[in-house]
Amino acid sequence: MSATPRAGAARAAMTRSAASATSTAAGTSAPPTPPTAEFKNEPLADFSRPDVKERQLAALTQVRTRLGRTYDLAIGGKRQKAPATFNSTNPACPEEVIGTFQRASREQAQQAIEAAAQAFTTWSRVPAAQRSDLLFQTARRLRERRFEFNAWMILEVGKTWREADADTAEAIDFLDFYARENLRYAADQPLTRIPGEKNNLVYIPLGVGAVIPPWNFPLAIMAGMTTAAIVTGNTVVLKPASDSPAIAAQFFALLEECGLPAGVANFLTGSGGEVGNTLVEHPKTRFICFTGSRDVGLDINSLAAQPRSGQIWIKRVVAEMGGKDGIIVDDEADLDAAAAGVAAAAFGFQGQKCSACSRVIVVDKVYDEFVARLKPKVEALKIGDPADADTDVGPVINEGAKRKILEYVEIGKKEGKVLTGGGPVSRPGHFIAPTVVTDVQPKARLSLEEIFGPVLAVIRAKDYDDALQIANNTEYGLTGAVYSRNREKLERAKREFHVGNLYLNRKCTGAMVGVHPFGGFNMSGTDSKAGGRDYLGLFMQAKATSEAV
Ligand code: NAP
Repeated sequence: MSATPRAGAARAAMTRSAASATSTAAGTSAPPTPPTAEFKNEPLADFSRPDVKERQLAALTQVRTRLGRTYDLAIGGKRQKAPATFNSTNPACPEEVIGTFQRASREQAQQAIEAAAQAFTTWSRVPAAQRSDLLFQTARRLRERRFEFNAWMILEVGKTWREADADTAEAIDFLDFYARENLRYAADQPLTRIPGEKNNLVYIPLGVGAVIPPWNFPLAIMAGMTTAAIVTGNTVVLKPASDSPAIAAQFFALLEECGLPAGVANFLTGSGGEVGNTLVEHPKTRFICFTGSRDVGLDINSLAAQPRSGQIWIKRVVAEMGGKDGIIVDDEADLDAAAAGVAAAAFGFQGQKCSACSRVIVVDKVYDEFVARLKPKVEALKIGDPADADTDVGPVINEGAKRKILEYVEIGKKEGKVLTGGGPVSRPGHFIAPTVVTDVQPKARLSLEEIFGPVLAVIRAKDYDDALQIANNTEYGLTGAVYSRNREKLERAKREFHVGNLYLNRKCTGAMVGVHPFGGFNMSGTDSKAGGRDYLGLFMQAKATSEAV
């Protein structure tokens, strides 16, 4: 097949112009759907139920019949080929091609920004309730098709069933939460009243955004960033990560099915190093919403700061970046709970989460005991194909990542002692054994640098004071956790452990929309707090109007 991420309804939706959006933003003649109840997080699928397991297996079979298709760019509602293509492959089975994607040229990146600028003239005027309705509808459809989206993630990025399902649930949450938040921002804003004037304040969209997500939450983060931007009246160019374009293509098609007008979001696959710069530099780009590594984030930030000919604004950069997240295990901790939490946070999705625990800082008094309890928990993790229901640990994302992670494993062998793991797993695919390195010094590379893979450094602290100091000794500040039964120590951590998301007596991964607004300090980014009540404000500017009466 050529062309569309999904044919039929999607193609029909794409022919609608943004100009018609004012009356049919959500592609239906029905009035916008107001939220009927308070926001609630989407429950996770219970795969212990045979019927649920059956549905996931059926979805995997069905999605496998759709692998290997070719997908086009979507610019201003029109499909386009590019001069070159690239393949996305299954990291558990690299010869399996998930799909073939266009490698957009710089000219096509410029066209995409122009198309978004054109669509902005109408989309920015669509009533907020209609824009929210597009997200409510998309959330509903995604809920209906969750096992299919899970399957795409299992096959394209190597998520286990549970990790994939949590990603889909989070995407549904983002859609539902941001749709509601948009209504709150659109409502009357409280101002101090004075006699003789009528005053009001409204939030208006910024303009055209470049949305550049990572591959590791290929649905939730990609969908959250894209829809936060469009629900607030902006238009975007979505450039998905090159390791997860198929998932983004499915989501883009879903948005189209739900009535996304042409040009409001433009789908542009290609190398970040090539088209990314063009999107960031373009004078009509008003903001960049990026999630990814520290180095790319810093480059984007500096590029965006330089005004281009014809540019009339300071570009806004929302950049969520890397982490080197630590868990402190205090000598008054429940060591079993701590060992379970550390193992889950370090090796869930093979340690490829920005929030993953990659360093555990253990107070000397309980160090040996904690290490003894951690080892069997890590060794019990089942390594295998994520398409199998009982797999705990799948492959890392690609060959390059595997090489880099294994280099860190070698560094770890010099900087500490390998407790378990310590190398690749001999099977096809990009598999690395969950690796724990003990006796790592606080300033060692393994202790300070983001590895983004299944490698955990164990660091010995003299006491709790020392543990807190070590916990704060990296340039990052994303997530962290403390296990202790001592209330005073937990209170100290609240004051002194400098991270955007701190967890007490629980693991440091698994932030939930609305419950744990997410974003980090220092080199972890701009602390945007995705999934929180401040997030949509980043995509808008406020206009105050005063009228003498
Ligand atoms: P990455 O290599 O920085 O890539 C992220 C995105 O940037 C991709 O779409 C990539 O496109 C694009 N890109 C690459 N070079 C670019 C350039 N010069 N200009 C513009 N865009 C460019 O990161 P990743 O490997 O996908 O993701 C892992 C990183 O993301 C880790 O550091 C992790 O901690 C971080 N992360 C942070 C959060 C958070 O909330 N703080 C959440 C998730 C992940 P290509 O794929 O085409 O190169």
